[in-house]
Amino acid sequence: MKLAQQYSRATHSSNLKCDEHHTDTDKLAAVALSGELGTYLFRCKYSNDHTSVKTLHIKWSEIVAKKADNRQWPKHVAAHKVAALSLDYWLNDVCPVCSGKCYEPLTNVPTVLSDTQCKACKGQGKRPLICDQRERDYVGHMVDELNDAAHSAAQNAMRKLASEMDL
Ligand SMILES: [Zn+2]
Repeated sequence: MKLAQQYSRATHSSNLKCDEHHTDTDKLAAVALSGELGTYLFRCKYSNDHTSVKTLHIKWSEIVAKKADNRQWPKHVAAHKVAALSLDYWLNDVCPVCSGKCYEPLTNVPTVLSDTQCKACKGQGKRPLICDQRERDYVGHMVDELNDAAHSAAQNAMRKLASEMDL
């Protein structure tokens, strides 16, 4: 996710106005313009803005509660729990064993990756989703929807950037 990295860099830059970071600032502005949830998702995941996490949790809980209502989730599935589990997972989904690199390091040279897939994540680079078996599918779907929301926020941002380019 290149835009995500740019965003992360831009928000970490101490002087956003300086020329070196000019492009980053434009992308940052574009992301900021693209829908509320997307903005919060980017801010919390890619710029470590912990102050926004609480607001994101509240917003996401409201959205999931509406979805649960519309889709008539069974009574044993608590929407607020599914919202919290899916968001926590989405914000921190990297496999802790391989740090998302998907392969095990060489025994003698830890900085070089071997051809052996990481056993913990089976080469997926993501940590396992740990939750009640009965809630698992619901949490998984909400994680997918968070991914979709982040992708469409990125797409909107790119569309805005493209339309603002002088070509
Ligand atoms: Zn792994």
